[in-house]
Amino acid sequence: MYIVQIASECAPVIKAGGLGDVVYGLSRELGLQGHCVELILPKYDCMRYDHIWGLHQAYEDLKVPWNGGVIRCTVHCGWVHSVLCFFIEPMSEENYFNRGVYYGSSDDPMRFAFFSKAALEFLSVSNKRPDVLHCHDWQTGLIPVMLYEMYAYHGMEHQRICYTIHNFKHQGICGVQALQATGLNRPDYYFQYDRIRDNFNPFAINFMKAGITYANYVNTVSPHHAWEARHTEISCGLMHTLELNQAKFGGILNGIDYVMWNPEEDPYVPIPYSASDFDGKLGAKKALRERLMLADDPEKPIVAFIGRLDDQKGVHLVGHAIHYALSRGAQFVLLGSATEQGINDSFQAQKQMLNDNPDCHLELGFNEELSHLIYAGADMIVIPSNFEPCGLTQVIGLRYGMVPIVRGVGGLVNTVFDWDYEETKPKEERNGFVFYQSDNVALESAMGRALDLYWLSPEIFRSLAIQGMRCDYSWGASGKQYASVYDFIRHK
Ligand code: ADP
Repeated sequence: MYIVQIASECAPVIKAGGLGDVVYGLSRELGLQGHCVELILPKYDCMRYDHIWGLHQAYEDLKVPWNGGVIRCTVHCGWVHSVLCFFIEPMSEENYFNRGVYYGSSDDPMRFAFFSKAALEFLSVSNKRPDVLHCHDWQTGLIPVMLYEMYAYHGMEHQRICYTIHNFKHQGICGVQALQATGLNRPDYYFQYDRIRDNFNPFAINFMKAGITYANYVNTVSPHHAWEARHTEISCGLMHTLELNQAKFGGILNGIDYVMWNPEEDPYVPIPYSASDFDGKLGAKKALRERLMLADDPEKPIVAFIGRLDDQKGVHLVGHAIHYALSRGAQFVLLGSATEQGINDSFQAQKQMLNDNPDCHLELGFNEELSHLIYAGADMIVIPSNFEPCGLTQVIGLRYGMVPIVRGVGGLVNTVFDWDYEETKPKEERNGFVFYQSDNVALESAMGRALDLYWLSPEIFRSLAIQGMRCDYSWGASGKQYASVYDFIRHK
């Protein structure tokens, strides 16, 4: 099959979180399975150009109809490892993708509505006719609408769309001007509740709702989160829309790329290690202590947190996890970045307070290289999320021999199985510790059990970590699931 992925991120070139990992990892897997896969991405000024090979102009003067006029674009093309990517660069005063950041501008809906329009225009004029367009998250939610309502009448009537929701919290809710700009300018037709009018704000449209309504297949990124989205408030106002579209909605678990995340071949891991040769992990632990100037106390466990410092991630519990770990004789490492000023200030204050503590380091910012060393060097990873569509840090942690301590929500339920209590799995398939309530007592109960095992039965803790490394969360199985979805919709 010929598949084009359209997204706002692709690791390691453009990565703000898990979306980037998923777009890259899935594309590579589909390529390995024999499909032809291409990506369309925005050309941001701040992306990691050092990870693109052979970047060159692919299409010189793409004229994208916009807001009653035209914006001229250059389309560049290059390889991100083995994946062929097209990057769209608009030449306009708005400077849509030259903002120094990927997200966070007040005109984000217009920026990504433009990107969506430009991606379709590029496919249309360059005569690319993929079997399936795979669109990701709210940024590309208008693509199914434009394909079905406009481009189908201009030679793209056979293309089908798979739409994947990575996070229901961000839906792209904005005024109708985005519709007019893209050329979807029949408000009385589109601005209806059974099309793309937001379910709760009567004056707004909703990109994600548009994607759900118009795509041929819709999924979120784990089976448990798909259930939560249908039956709880976690889908942030889209429960009814999912109910209406239940026949084409499901959950497919994310994988991780086992080449990008491999402690046996990771350039940031000082001594390669694996499940059958685990001692190298001690080398990474030592290197991590040196890098972050932690006390060189080989007996102590290192507990880590890696992730966006956002309400979603349970930041109130992250602060408590730090103090609890230190009180139980562990060391703690945090790598995280906050976009919200209040959360950032609070972690800056904690960093200041813990500055002289030799057992703790808080690194506030985004640092891909350091994240690899932390996965390799730390013993446990704590993930106290309020909600988690899939979560990749627990899966990467398992791959690097960390024992995850997680809250039982979303994809964490599908990937982490409690060492003491998961009765549906035999002991040899359990891999971590799970708690359910979102409070300090529950967090302590799970962290306490993990730390007890480390201190009182180090051999068992070690074999639990090795057991976790043997879990298979590569893209193999999920890649096949996506391929069968594509195959199904293209014959519809
Ligand atoms: P989300 O997509 O909600 O941010 P995931 O757990 O799905 O969370 O994916 C997070 C990805 O981003 C992982 O690859 C993780 O290693 C990476 N990551 C998150 N925060 C940072 C950071 N501050 N520095 C480096 N990598 C980070």
